[in-house]
Amino acid sequence: NNTTNPLQVTGGNKGIGYGVVRGLCKGFDGDVYLTARNEELGQAAVKELSDEIPNNKPKFHQLDISDQPSIDRLRDFLKEKYGGLDVLVNNAAIAYKASSTAKFPEQARETIRINYTATINVCNALFPLLRPHARVVNVSSFVSTWAINKCSAELKAKFSAPDLEEKQCTALLDEFVRLAQDEKHEKNGYANTAYGMSKVGVSALSQIQGRVMTKDKREDILIMAADPGSVNTDMSSHRGNKNLDDGADTLVYLALLKPGCGIPNGSFVSERKVRDW
Ligand code: NDP
Repeated sequence: NNTTNPLQVTGGNKGIGYGVVRGLCKGFDGDVYLTARNEELGQAAVKELSDEIPNNKPKFHQLDISDQPSIDRLRDFLKEKYGGLDVLVNNAAIAYKASSTAKFPEQARETIRINYTATINVCNALFPLLRPHARVVNVSSFVSTWAINKCSAELKAKFSAPDLEEKQCTALLDEFVRLAQDEKHEKNGYANTAYGMSKVGVSALSQIQGRVMTKDKREDILIMAADPGSVNTDMSSHRGNKNLDDGADTLVYLALLKPGCGIPNGSFVSERKVRDW
């Protein structure tokens, strides 16, 4: 096995993920993998970054986080070529536009399927590869804070319970999707936002994963939820005030945290600071 440390970013062909790959290539001299579901878009992004950073060109691997065979191929590749993984940035996500004609039941189903469930599937496949001192950054959002505060007190307590388990968290989001099919989610205490609920899931999941890593005594492996802030990307319809590098800043900082950094496992981090979510 090659001992060069591999770092891997999902949804790296554009937006914040692209900014994260650029930041990692500049701040780190191991192998950085830009992954994308669309091979052509991914390769084009790799080409552009390679021209910009010729001394640490990113590498490409296809990954559609919603496609299990695609996840398995990446896992097998990393295992075979490197025997491990040092950094995973779960950045890929979707958000319906306010102008979308898709009905709420579909938006709820699809948004949870990609932003929450597919992210878990990537984690489940790649976590066994994480080496000591590995860093996992699950890209969440300030919207998760907004959304959890729109939930009923009972639901808020459930999502933020310090002993919440992954399967319970998943059940809460499955219930959101089920209730959303008849638009009964709000009556039952959920916030009226598919994207917001998906990010509540990502923040809660990170807290759970961090706790499990510590409990399982995986050596100094940190899992964190990160908020990039409001960034000028396609997702925000270019309304965000930050450019890609500023949006990637906290994510790159967390991805490259040194041992003994003192950040509690499972934290939610925004502007490089641990916060409540
Ligand atoms: P973009 O829409 O600009 O980029 C999203 C990226 O995710 C694209 O590369 C897209 O690929 C990829 N993606 C979507 N679905 C999949 C999939 N199934 N498999 C693999 N890749 C996929 O979004 P942003 O850059 O703005 O967002 C990045 C992250 O930051 C997201 O998690 C988002 O929720 C979060 N965020 C963004 C904020 C903002 O202001 N922009 C604010 C807070 C959080 P493709 O090009 O093929 O569609």
